[in-house]
Amino acid sequence: MKTKAQTSVFHRDLVNTPKMVSHADGVHVWDADGNQYLDASSGGNVVISIGYGVEKVIDAMTEQARKVSFCGAFTSEPQEALAQQLAEFAPNGLDKVRFVSGGSEANETAIKLARHYHVESGNSEKYKIVGRWRSYHGNTLGALSATGHVLRRKNYLPMLLPFPHAAPPYQYRCQFCSERSSCTLQCADDVERLILNEGPESVAAFIAEPIVGAAAMGMVADPKYFSRVREICDKYDVLLIVDEVLSGMGRTGANFAIEHWNTRPDIITCGKGISSGYTPLGAVITTNEIHDAVRIGSGAFEHGFTYGGNPLSCAVGSAVLTYIQDNKLVENAATVGSYLQERVAQEIGGLDIVGEVSGKGMLCGIEIVADRETKEPFSPEIAIATRIARRTQELGVLINPSFSGNVDGYRGDRFGICPPLTFTREQVDETVDALGRAVREVREQVRF
Ligand code: PLP
Repeated sequence: MKTKAQTSVFHRDLVNTPKMVSHADGVHVWDADGNQYLDASSGGNVVISIGYGVEKVIDAMTEQARKVSFCGAFTSEPQEALAQQLAEFAPNGLDKVRFVSGGSEANETAIKLARHYHVESGNSEKYKIVGRWRSYHGNTLGALSATGHVLRRKNYLPMLLPFPHAAPPYQYRCQFCSERSSCTLQCADDVERLILNEGPESVAAFIAEPIVGAAAMGMVADPKYFSRVREICDKYDVLLIVDEVLSGMGRTGANFAIEHWNTRPDIITCGKGISSGYTPLGAVITTNEIHDAVRIGSGAFEHGFTYGGNPLSCAVGSAVLTYIQDNKLVENAATVGSYLQERVAQEIGGLDIVGEVSGKGMLCGIEIVADRETKEPFSPEIAIATRIARRTQELGVLINPSFSGNVDGYRGDRFGICPPLTFTREQVDETVDALGRAVREVREQVRF
């Protein structure tokens, strides 16, 4: 007879077991010890877009579960309805939607769709995907191959496809320009350099997060970056995939973050906020041209996942998007989000351990440094971003710890403040007060 294990969950952090969640409501979460937290992290993973416990979503979910929660043999009304809603929500020209269950699946799908499109267009040598350093596209092997998050890639390098990675548009630590104001777009030109290096006939797509998440929270490119990238992609018949898993569905104050650059992508990937965490859901949105090339060609896109397009998740996605639109949450993310960015900058931007505050809307990133002049980071053992996030949590507010470490020259500590799109100015104030106190206290501990 097996003895009962103390706990059997194989957690990500094998040393510190996370706290137990009890319940949540609106923008608040309670742990099993009865502590209440204001959630400025959208569930820790930037997922909760509309808040917890929204009755309309719960009603849509239960109603759909009663009707039919899964039937892979047929399409369903919620799937068709959500596809229509997403096509209207997406930029012009992006009208066809394929559903999956999350961000990694969405990016795997986008990568294979790009390849398949080229095969049907008579360019069967095109298969490589150009990614960027300091990016995160998911943990499945294809998405991880395109990813430029060195810590997440490190142990799996021999298993990854040798996709090339361009320089990130990391203005704070730019490897090309000394001044932000005189950006020469060499990071965008690096994409062209890589395409030429690989041979344009072999490159299928370039993938990028319009505003970066896990690998450099809140990293925003120069205003001309994506139009230059679009020109390069057009020149070499390379598709532009934008990964909006974290930055999409209104989070940055635009339906999709790429709209801040006024650039049309060929494929958009979604996840996280699309279902606000009520069920697993992701989507790939593409053009009629790409869809038709595959339909007219082999007539089938031989790639899919069992749970892709399941009626339950699609009913949730549809209710979430309706809620976002009815409550003007994209507009709220723009206005309250600007307030968030300003307040964080005012409160901690002047401290000697804060390198930069950047981002848009409800996606705010902070970089902590040991020396503001040299931008020298703290030693990774100090894990300063994690310490700040822990202390903020003790003070009753959840934020997003992000990239921390020093691997292969990728150094630095960043964390994010990514609240639900429903956040109010008062909740921003409460968040910023706790953050300011936590940063100051941690600064005292590491400085003296
Ligand atoms: N793409 C981006 C930009 C992400 O932030 C993430 C997750 O953090 C993913 C893809 C992977 O999504 P998932 O964890 O749902 O597979």
